[in-house]
Amino acid sequence: MRRREFCRTAVAAGVMGSFPALSGCGRGEPPVATSANTSIRAISLDGAELELEKAAIRELGDAMTGPVMLSGHPDYDSARTIWNGMHDKRPALIARCMNNEDVANAVTFARERDLLVAVRGGGHSWPGKSVCDDGLMIDLSQLTNVTIDTDKNRAHVGGGALLGHLDQASLPHGLVTTGGVVSHTGVGGFTLGGGYGRLNRKYGLAVDNLCSATITTADGQTRNVSADESPDLFWAIRGGGGNFGVVTEFEFQLYPFDRAVLSGNLVWPIAQARDVLEFYAEWSPGLSDDLYTGPMLATTPDGTGMVIVEVVYAGDPAAGEKEIAPLRALGSPMDDGIRMQDYTVMQTQEDAAFAHGVRSYAKNGMVREYTQELVNTMLEAYVPDPRMAMFTHTAGGAMNRVGDVDTAFPHRNAQTMLSVGGGWTDPAMDVEAMALGREWFSKLAPFTGGYYDNIQSNPESVASNYGPAHERLVKIKSQHDAGNLFRLNSNIRPA
Ligand SMILES: Cc1cc2nc3c(=O)[nH]c(=O)nc-3n(C[C@H](O)[C@H](O)[C@H](O)COP(=O)(O)OP(=O)(O)OC[C@H]3O[C@@H](n4cnc5c(N)ncnc54)[C@H](O)[C@@H]3O)c2cc1C
Repeated sequence: MRRREFCRTAVAAGVMGSFPALSGCGRGEPPVATSANTSIRAISLDGAELELEKAAIRELGDAMTGPVMLSGHPDYDSARTIWNGMHDKRPALIARCMNNEDVANAVTFARERDLLVAVRGGGHSWPGKSVCDDGLMIDLSQLTNVTIDTDKNRAHVGGGALLGHLDQASLPHGLVTTGGVVSHTGVGGFTLGGGYGRLNRKYGLAVDNLCSATITTADGQTRNVSADESPDLFWAIRGGGGNFGVVTEFEFQLYPFDRAVLSGNLVWPIAQARDVLEFYAEWSPGLSDDLYTGPMLATTPDGTGMVIVEVVYAGDPAAGEKEIAPLRALGSPMDDGIRMQDYTVMQTQEDAAFAHGVRSYAKNGMVREYTQELVNTMLEAYVPDPRMAMFTHTAGGAMNRVGDVDTAFPHRNAQTMLSVGGGWTDPAMDVEAMALGREWFSKLAPFTGGYYDNIQSNPESVASNYGPAHERLVKIKSQHDAGNLFRLNSNIRPA
């Protein structure tokens, strides 16, 4: 068998990573683009087979500061491995970008060849949109720099930074902005899709705090976007996901913040779930903006069901004690962990439960009204199973005072985001665990309208989910990415 044919066969069989010495097809040469000595099979945006010529691969490698890794490179597997263990994909090339020029080179290389592109920020895409088979992965994992401008209370954050990097950089200055509930989530995908977190009632979503961004569009041009510069593009990236280009820097508004917050979890046995949920349904519409809280139905590894309510009060602790008193007085909690503690305790408390490599499936929907009927249905749908949980992410407050189409994020009227999500490690459980999640959610779905596309992918309902923002998104997509290069996302198809 000729060497090139061997390479192709090995790629197709997905086994090249097992033969590092051969995978670059260069007999012991490091498997990077600069020393490629064979063409590589790849796929186009439409799934057709492509051949990437050796000279072109080398040229890309030479132009980049960071490495362009081929299968078998020592970092190839860690770069292609994303958070959800369900997605085991093998890009033809991984361009590890160190700066804007690297991103522009990688984007241009892909566009000129119609090559399938995946953009990896923090790698938390539940549906696995940040990795692909046989395409080019634009890997932003090295762009994690965060600088804090204490004169303007702004954070400048690299496009591959994690939420923990942002908190760690801003909190020592007594400053904060809305970040998500797991610190190893990427700022990139999180922000471009909306960005819910424990402070969204007080300061709005991440998109509401985005002041500007640096983006490389499909034409390979890098530009700053803000309310004053390319305002259409700036509008579109605040909710429109990765459809419009690769963001290498985000600038966020920060707020003075006392990091010692009244916070913690209240836990009741599942037998008291009805009392807790019914109470929450009545109580939650009147919450102050300072209070983030919401119930979760979960199960311990030994099969014990429980209801957990997380509390973070981002304001005067005395006022917080008063506001949460009725919740604390409810029934007989098994545990009351609410106390004054550092904000980062809550910001990292879920990190281990959502560890990398878990196999996971999630569905969610936006709930306008947390009714007693919804409570009945949640209790009917939930059956103790350690593989699946039901979560409430409380919306409202500042995030709902932004106009429906002031940003591209479409769900300003929801009171709550309701999610069903699970994790397991044994691939043999995939079918059963996903069926369980689907079954639970099918019962909840009638109470929801639209969904948060950062958590699930529904290609057939992208237009209806964006609602009144969709037409403008299509127009901007058509202007900036008519060939739909950036399609591994909640894809807005160009006209
Ligand atoms: C454990 C866990 C907890 C989560 N918690 C929250 C939460 O509290 N609040 C919330 O709102 N969401 C949450 N999410 C959802 C999360 O916001 C999305 O999964 C988000 O897409 C993750 O961003 P990422 O950069 O890590 O993902 P990636 O997998 O890297 O990318 C996801 C998508 O964004 C695109 N993308 C990423 N970075 C860039 C960039 N710099 N430029 C252009 N496109 C980019 C990718 O191409 C891909 O389409 C959570 C997800 C997980 C798995």
